[in-house]
Amino acid sequence: MKWGVNHKMNVKLLGYTPDPEKIPAMAGMLTHSKSKPEDLEKAPEKQLNAVLKEVLKMGHTSVIEHTSFTFAISDVSRSLTHQLVRHRIASYAQQSQRYVDFKEPNYVTPPKIAKNKKMKKAYDKTMKNIWEEYNKLRDMGIPAEDSRFILPNAACTNIIVTMNARSLLNFFELRCCLHAQWEIRQLANKMLGEVKKVAPIIFKNAGPACKTKNYCPENKKDCPLYPR
Ligand SMILES: Cc1cc2nc3c(=O)[nH]c(=O)nc-3n(C[C@H](O)[C@H](O)[C@H](O)COP(=O)(O)OP(=O)(O)OC[C@H]3O[C@@H](n4cnc5c(N)ncnc54)[C@H](O)[C@@H]3O)c2cc1C
Repeated sequence: MKWGVNHKMNVKLLGYTPDPEKIPAMAGMLTHSKSKPEDLEKAPEKQLNAVLKEVLKMGHTSVIEHTSFTFAISDVSRSLTHQLVRHRIASYAQQSQRYVDFKEPNYVTPPKIAKNKKMKKAYDKTMKNIWEEYNKLRDMGIPAEDSRFILPNAACTNIIVTMNARSLLNFFELRCCLHAQWEIRQLANKMLGEVKKVAPIIFKNAGPACKTKNYCPENKKDCPLYPR
């Protein structure tokens, strides 16, 4: 890898529940119907969509737990994934620093550092030193699980995450907020863009709390999105 290259995060929607909006709509319909759930499958699409919109408006969001989305996320920092995995209503698989050797330097540079030549030089130098020391430890026979203790928060990693739609709404509320940390906010916005394409009704109004709930949990009155 070339020194100082800025990594660009990749976010791919790997898969999702087939008919991601039909099943939650059927679940909503079922609660008010004498019909068996399998018979609701034949309900016209227009009716199913109307039910889903109504159910979501009522805040009956448990029905969208029946739909899940799986994302492949690569070239993000460990700093990001540390925040991501705090979202407990999800499943994860992350590249291991025990089983994978990181001989080559691979790290994320924050934009505020990248745009300042002097800072960027110092940052790259520190990263270079860290990786040199990491390789020295490995060469001296220290296992990867111990050598990794000196790797930085900036170290690149890859992760697969699965979340149901309800958990995703909560994730977007917290992480699309302008006060969320920039890298996880970038990730949340990319994920939101992907799910909107396949489940437009569920995610139509998704986003930060100022958009969904018309209030600012951070009470940041200087924010351009602060509800007036
Ligand atoms: C801007 C920002 C700053 C933050 N700063 C910090 C920080 O400084 N330090 C820090 O430690 N964390 C911090 N966090 C992380 C935050 O506290 C949450 O851990 C994280 O956002 C996950 O949110 P969550 O619990 O809603 O999500 P999930 O874990 O996915 O949970 C979803 C929802 O399920 C329910 N739930 C889940 N588990 C339980 C449970 N055990 N009991 C009851 N209800 C449950 C809750 O309603 C919860 O909202 C920050 C988050 C943000 C967005």
